[in-house]
Amino acid sequence: MHPARLVVRALGVAALTALIATSLPSLTNAARAAGTPSANVPALDKANFDPTCKPCDDFYQFATGGWTKSHTLPPGRARWGGFDELAQHNRDVLHTILEDDAKIANAPAGSDAQKLGSYYRACMDTDAIEKAGTTPVAPLLDAVAAAHDVPSLTTTIATLERSGVDAGLRLGSRADTKNSSKQIAAIGLGGLGLPDRDYYFNEGERFGTIRTAYHDYVATQLRNLGDDEAKANAEATAVIALETAIAKATPKRADLRDPYKLYNPTPVAQLATIAPHVPWKSFFSSFGAPAFDTVNLTVPSFVTSYDELLATTPIDTWKAYLRFHVADDYSGSLPKRFEDAGFGFRSGVLLGVKEQLPPWQRCTAATDAALRDVLGKAYVSTAFPASAKARAQELVNNLQATLHDDIGTLSWMSPQTKQQAVVKLAAFTKKIGYPDRWEDYSTLQIPNGAPYASDVIAVRRWNDARNIARIGTATDRGRWGMTPPTVNAYYNPSNNEIVFPAGILEPPFFNATADDAVNYGAIGAVIGHEMTHGFDDQGRQFDAQGNLRDWWTPSDAAAFKTRAQCIVDEFDAFEPVAGTHENGRLVQGEAIADLGGLTIAYKAFERTAEAKSHKSIDGYTPEQRFFLAYAQVWRSIGTEGMIRQIALTNEHPWDKYRVLGTLSNMPEFQAAFHCAAGDKMVRAARCQIW
Ligand SMILES: [Zn+2]
Repeated sequence: MHPARLVVRALGVAALTALIATSLPSLTNAARAAGTPSANVPALDKANFDPTCKPCDDFYQFATGGWTKSHTLPPGRARWGGFDELAQHNRDVLHTILEDDAKIANAPAGSDAQKLGSYYRACMDTDAIEKAGTTPVAPLLDAVAAAHDVPSLTTTIATLERSGVDAGLRLGSRADTKNSSKQIAAIGLGGLGLPDRDYYFNEGERFGTIRTAYHDYVATQLRNLGDDEAKANAEATAVIALETAIAKATPKRADLRDPYKLYNPTPVAQLATIAPHVPWKSFFSSFGAPAFDTVNLTVPSFVTSYDELLATTPIDTWKAYLRFHVADDYSGSLPKRFEDAGFGFRSGVLLGVKEQLPPWQRCTAATDAALRDVLGKAYVSTAFPASAKARAQELVNNLQATLHDDIGTLSWMSPQTKQQAVVKLAAFTKKIGYPDRWEDYSTLQIPNGAPYASDVIAVRRWNDARNIARIGTATDRGRWGMTPPTVNAYYNPSNNEIVFPAGILEPPFFNATADDAVNYGAIGAVIGHEMTHGFDDQGRQFDAQGNLRDWWTPSDAAAFKTRAQCIVDEFDAFEPVAGTHENGRLVQGEAIADLGGLTIAYKAFERTAEAKSHKSIDGYTPEQRFFLAYAQVWRSIGTEGMIRQIALTNEHPWDKYRVLGTLSNMPEFQAAFHCAAGDKMVRAARCQIW
């Protein structure tokens, strides 16, 4: 819940899943061995279908039921589907690169191969991790031990935050919401060990069980740090009481969607009134921050409440809280007892996963998250042909032209607002594949033979220092929020940019040997989705330059809200797990992007020769193939815990509803499959925005 996490609108939950697994408080998160995979993948695989189900009854079952029947969750996984299959393929490519680098004994110090090989080797070396014990995190634990009053406690909090420990009060940089060309200081939200503030308060047996298990988990990690059982249990009770107070000060997720409410530039001089116990000057200098006179508080009342807790909660409780968060946030790089405890709670209790992924999987993902552009560069040179970039570029341009024309036809929008909308659309920055300029990692050292947790600290501190150094500087619009192998995409309103990493430009999303119907239904819908984010409930409030500015006439804004409410109501009714509904307000941006994106992709597809040919392939018309390709992307299975956690905490609806909820609004779908009014896949009161 740090500031950066609130900014970017991604396509899928995959990146967030990685965040859940590693608890990394940063923005990022996530072949059949060689050759281009596209060459071997059929455009549509009929084995994935379930012909016993009528397409107009349940299109998700029709299009993916065969796949669901023939797949079970792989060991170590809480979900598995189209995204995950491709991510695994990409991870195999990374694995090969890293194994090769790890074998090079004499790579020049500081070279890419040395950094990658050294980091990956340290992660894989479980004996060395055991042997090092907690020594690598001793500087963090010593900082906690040194806290004796509120001022020294805040210095400790800064030290921990700089090392990637989520202690609830963190200084960072971000684009000024109303002047996106400038980076400003920002303080966001954080400090919770459970996945969401609601987990501290929700009624019902399921949440009671989670809270009891969380108590055990907190106590276990404190015991792992050396506390005896009685002390650890008492501390866990106090830590959870403190976190519950922090949770109380944290707004509900659906209430964090209004960018005006989150824009609170505050003079530093005023902080003494808002939060009088924090010695702000020394707190900021503990981060090594350059001088600044204004800081954005995402939620000012959160800072006030946190400040009160600093003064009113016994310091020993704070120290237990901070020690627990060190153990929790570093559990993946500490001895097995820490790692097992972290896995047991975060993956086991919360998500229902029974066994860990093998070390190479975890270490490959961890190296991708840590040495982002260093590994990304190697990945792109191995796995991303220039032809894929050129084809993706062409699709993006076609979609953009189609959306331009579509805006002109909207019955509910006035000419003034339309004029502004097309200006914004034309100003999109389009990033495809990988950054034009790779980040410079020359100042980051990953010495050979260092214990893994020391490498993790080094990377986190290096990232934090770069983030802090951006305060007061001009925004570098060339930066990327995802690594090249990531199977995902995003829209960033502050840059008015759409971004498609190389990792998603492969089947089932993009298939060089497939017909246009399949590519427009899959990657075309992804491209349209990200474009529509520029015009969803949040994105529409930013202008062509990425600044928060109202460019809508009041009546057009009102018409938009009425249409968005249709989506909210539709998704509120979905119940992915008995007793847990989708949260329409929370998922509206994603659902609007799905509907708008698929609609625009369909209109762009109608302009292709295949659509005009009306020629069937394998018994399906071009239009039917378009919708089948869309549904294929969202094939997935998941544990009950995972589906519930997504419904409660994620801005993306569960995969099934991204198909059912979207298609049932589309007359184009009804026509393609000759569905009758009254069929389940035809909503009586259709939602339509773009
Ligand atoms: Zn999205």
